[in-house]
Amino acid sequence: MAEQRDFDFLVLGSGLAGLFYALRVAERGRVAIVTKRAADDSATSWAQGGIAAVLADDDSFDDHQRDTLTAGAGLCHEDVVQYVVERAPAVVESLVKLGVHFDPAEEDAPSGGGFALGREGGHGRRRILHHRDATGREVERALVERARAHPNIALFEQHLGVDLVTTLRSGIAGPNRCAGAYVLDAKTNLVHCFLAPVTLLATGGGGKVYLYTSNPDVASGDGIAMGYRAGATVANLEFMQFHPTCLFHPQAKSFLITEAVRGEGGILKTLAGDAFMPRYHAMADLAPRDVVARAIDSELKRSGNECVLLDITHKDPAFVRERFPTIYERCLSFGIDITRQPIPVVPAAHYTCGGVRTDLHGETDLPNLFAAGEVSCTGLHGANRLASNSLLECAVFADAAAEESLKRLDEARPSAEVPAWQAQWVRGATSR
Ligand SMILES: Cc1cc2nc3c(=O)[nH]c(=O)nc-3n(C[C@H](O)[C@H](O)[C@H](O)COP(=O)(O)OP(=O)(O)OC[C@H]3O[C@@H](n4cnc5c(N)ncnc54)[C@H](O)[C@@H]3O)c2cc1C
Repeated sequence: MAEQRDFDFLVLGSGLAGLFYALRVAERGRVAIVTKRAADDSATSWAQGGIAAVLADDDSFDDHQRDTLTAGAGLCHEDVVQYVVERAPAVVESLVKLGVHFDPAEEDAPSGGGFALGREGGHGRRRILHHRDATGREVERALVERARAHPNIALFEQHLGVDLVTTLRSGIAGPNRCAGAYVLDAKTNLVHCFLAPVTLLATGGGGKVYLYTSNPDVASGDGIAMGYRAGATVANLEFMQFHPTCLFHPQAKSFLITEAVRGEGGILKTLAGDAFMPRYHAMADLAPRDVVARAIDSELKRSGNECVLLDITHKDPAFVRERFPTIYERCLSFGIDITRQPIPVVPAAHYTCGGVRTDLHGETDLPNLFAAGEVSCTGLHGANRLASNSLLECAVFADAAAEESLKRLDEARPSAEVPAWQAQWVRGATSR
């Protein structure tokens, strides 16, 4: 039977943004995490390159801000860029405390703060913390483990947020605000009414709207649609980022070749062997990803070929296997030994730069509805996200939203205000 379930905090989504937030607010109240499939089925789990933070002696917040603003093509909000960049070292520390293992510094290799630092397209310095080439999987592992073990967190897997509950829709007088969400239990096919004084949208982006994408199936833009239907402002949805290098192979579904491959010296070439990037940008293969994606697209249109090649065969094979074990294994499973053969690649839809608009506390303009991670539009990315700034944004804004939610919890009107007839309505709707 459909039920009404009451919590102090409702979190939709179990990627980095949802989990990081949940673990913080769980110190003060009962948290429901509702997630569409298995807890670790998220874009976070697929992140390869890493998370950007200024830790090296030769780096500075100003440099990281400049790189972010350049990538964003003049449309980033400078106050937000500064806010995020300056908080990066602290959120990295929090992730480490939560049990995330980043690759440690090695003798004679570039490092900072005790960690190995990689370089990626658009970054003028080495500032990417990583766990080999499977950083997101490591982040998700650590946080899911913590969330499962937390006595104040109830994790609802195979549960799908369908729509937000608002006081306006419920016929309650006063200014409209969010009071929770209707949630479909995919196993029983019943819609339950999850109520909470504070709700966080952390449902990720909408790359799956495109045929060719690097995103997992769960990235279907549900949270953006839910926010929009409930009256929250959405922004910048025209800015879909295309990642320049997805594996081009008929059997490879959505497999990304991280920008770090170019960061470590990989060179883009046409099928005829022409290294074309210097003709398009002064940073050549390390140009921001929109520039590289457009360059590849124009080379494909010019030549009529189906793909270009990413060549890292000039590097030491042992280094390539050690630094990119996931990519090495995956490509090998398709018959491509990346230490000896260039990788066929094409651009694919990768990141939703826009989303539900939030302020610096991660709150939307629908009171008591917060949003963090790829579902949101904070102003950080402008027209184009800088590599490895997304995991960073997830953690910084999940943290900010948690901070504000904890304050809000005490002020928020109790969720019991949503009348009992609403749960009745849910029951009626599902039995039809
Ligand atoms: C292949 C790949 C590589 C990447 N590499 C990097 C990188 O190296 N560095 C970087 O910074 N960024 C990277 N990104 C981007 C980054 O991974 C994502 O932007 C980020 O992880 C998004 O985190 P999130 O918590 O907002 O959403 P996600 O991690 O996508 O989590 C969303 C969650 O919401 C759930 N969900 C969705 N709809 C619903 C619904 N209706 N009801 C309930 N739950 C729902 C999903 O199941 C999932 O649990 C990469 C992305 C991809 C796809």
